[in-house]
Amino acid sequence: MSAGTVPSRLSDLWDDAEAGKMSEADRLVYRSNLLGSDKRITNYGGGNTSSKITEKDPLTGADVEVLWVKGSGGDVGSIRRDGFATLYMDKLRALKGLYRGIEHEDEMVGYLPHCTFDLNPRAASIDTPLHAFVPHPFVDHMHPDAIIAIAASADSKTLTGEIFGDEIGWLPWKRPGFELGLWLEKFCMENPQAKGVILESHGLFTWGDTPKSCYETTIATINKAIAWLEEKTAGKPPFDGPRVDALPANERRAIAARLMPVIRGHISRDSHKVGHFDDSQAVLDFVNSSALDTLAPLGTSCPDHFLRTKIAPLVVPFDGDVDATLAGLEKAIADYREGYAAYYERCKRDNSPAMRDPNAVVYLVPGVGMLTFAKDKATARISAEFYINAINVMRGASAVSTYRGLDEQEAFDIEYWQLEEAKLQRMPKAKSLAGRVALVTGGAGGIGKATAARLLEEGACVILADIDETALAEANAELAGAFGKDVVRSTRTDVTDESAVIASFAEAATEFGGLDILVSNAGLASSAPIEETTLALWNRNMDILATGYFLVSREAFKLFRTQKIGGNVVFVASKNGLAASPNASAYCTAKAAEIHLARCLALEGAAEQIRVNVVNPDAVLRGSKIWSGEWKEQRAAAYNMATDELEEHYRQRSMLKRSVLPEDIAEAIYFFASEMSAKSTGNIVNVDAGNAQSFTR
Ligand code: NAD
Repeated sequence: MSAGTVPSRLSDLWDDAEAGKMSEADRLVYRSNLLGSDKRITNYGGGNTSSKITEKDPLTGADVEVLWVKGSGGDVGSIRRDGFATLYMDKLRALKGLYRGIEHEDEMVGYLPHCTFDLNPRAASIDTPLHAFVPHPFVDHMHPDAIIAIAASADSKTLTGEIFGDEIGWLPWKRPGFELGLWLEKFCMENPQAKGVILESHGLFTWGDTPKSCYETTIATINKAIAWLEEKTAGKPPFDGPRVDALPANERRAIAARLMPVIRGHISRDSHKVGHFDDSQAVLDFVNSSALDTLAPLGTSCPDHFLRTKIAPLVVPFDGDVDATLAGLEKAIADYREGYAAYYERCKRDNSPAMRDPNAVVYLVPGVGMLTFAKDKATARISAEFYINAINVMRGASAVSTYRGLDEQEAFDIEYWQLEEAKLQRMPKAKSLAGRVALVTGGAGGIGKATAARLLEEGACVILADIDETALAEANAELAGAFGKDVVRSTRTDVTDESAVIASFAEAATEFGGLDILVSNAGLASSAPIEETTLALWNRNMDILATGYFLVSREAFKLFRTQKIGGNVVFVASKNGLAASPNASAYCTAKAAEIHLARCLALEGAAEQIRVNVVNPDAVLRGSKIWSGEWKEQRAAAYNMATDELEEHYRQRSMLKRSVLPEDIAEAIYFFASEMSAKSTGNIVNVDAGNAQSFTR
């Protein structure tokens, strides 16, 4: 079922001509990618595929049977050959002799590396025995919403029989691992006619004697479930229809922009979170329905779903009065945390890892949509996608039967599984700006784009705000290409326009949940003797450099104060804000105003850990648009030289005799934006290769 639309059939995409040319291993990649290309077949990172292939043993040269199976942590949609673990089948079979029973199941994972074929470094996943012990050469394990809807129904065994007869079997819930592998083997032995099996609350296993027949069985089985659900639910509104109406799209976004920074503030005290807003039809059908109150607390069923979305979502009480909802959020969040801690206490075992972050991941708001929060944007987005899978499952199951979430203790045992904990411990250390959100004005310009890249490199999410639409689109594409689409947004903003500035900060709130760093950098350069300085030129400098910096700072302060987790403002001023310069009075005065504004704001923000600092560049020619036009010619004329001699001229003029690059400015901005400068506010750093005139005093 795709989000919010009437379920439709999957197409058989197998191409004999293409598959025929491939090696068996490549055909496994091909089959996996075909399956993973449609989220109705499996969710991101969910499910796995395998082929048992005859290979030459690298030591003996003899033919050996090797299991190629998706390795730990991969995604079938994008997997390549190196995403598969390879293991000797005879060694895997021999593990049965070492198995000491269900209570020692986890130790079997430690034996898997001993079965590795050809020194393949890809770690085998805990699902490996499930594939190894199915006595068929080609095996798919998928998490299709339509199948899980049946698997999560109270009478899923009966429904499976009704839909599939004896072609597809059914096994009761069992956590993935060695024991489930043995169950699957036993099932296959006892049901030689079966082409697959539904695992209660979990998903689907299908198999075949050829890769094509395996793939086609998977597709046909899912299609059969889709068709059956369609027939059973024809004419029924999702979740028995709405209890509240969805608000218009712009109001939904506006309300999300108000709720998200408050929630983010409450849940980011220990580590910063990034938010994601989703108001797709599937989400609205659920959050607006009267079933919300009964279904949401039941939690999700498939382990993949709740590992990403936590045991249950938080339903945010909202009846149209945003202020009342905001006022109630602190208690709602505290209650959720208490409930989570109680769940931990109820279910923990002697050797359970310590309780993890007790905050909700998913927040459901009737009439508005779904907010998700996680340590980074991709995880927040993927959590939302997983909850949509869960919504689809609940919609199907509750329409044909009674939906059942996974038993609480089972859910806990998976969430706090030692193997899951080990996976978390292996995760690389978070980057210095992970979970942080930055807005960079003039982000499409030379210094702005270099700054955005530096902050992105350190794990921040960045919103580029710039008046130049073309340059903005180019910068967005370039940075999204380098750092991924999730973490970059852009908003066309004129920093002199109050309502545009307000709108760009609302955008930061809906796109990422709030803001931690403002880099106020939009600017221009101008030069004219005082008598030739028109009022328009004077005002333009004041508007962009003084008023523009004031407007963005004010909105940033509002957001910071709403979140109550501190904040960071960095102004990109200029050497000319400290050092007077002839024929540039409008620019110099406006830059001086910026610097003094920064000091005033440093005073105002300190009590709430809002820091404000200034970076002063000088003569950054490369990458800068300021230096590409008239200004460059004027400066070259003033020094009586060609424009391409300017960079060398400025280098020689500096005390250190070095050119200043956009990356140098970006480094100083990163310093102020990060915890490295946690004890600094109201400060100025000159990045000008040394200029005695602008020494601070
Ligand atoms: P740039 O021209 O490459 O970038 C400035 C960006 O600001 C441009 O993308 C422009 O479209 C944007 N902008 C202009 N007016 C705007 C408005 N009203 N609203 C939103 N965006 C607007 O120049 P740069 O060298 O990267 O300059 C960045 C900052 O550094 C400026 O504040 C500039 O005064 C300051 N600075 C630069 C130098 C230098 O030598 N390049 C020296 C001292 C100070």
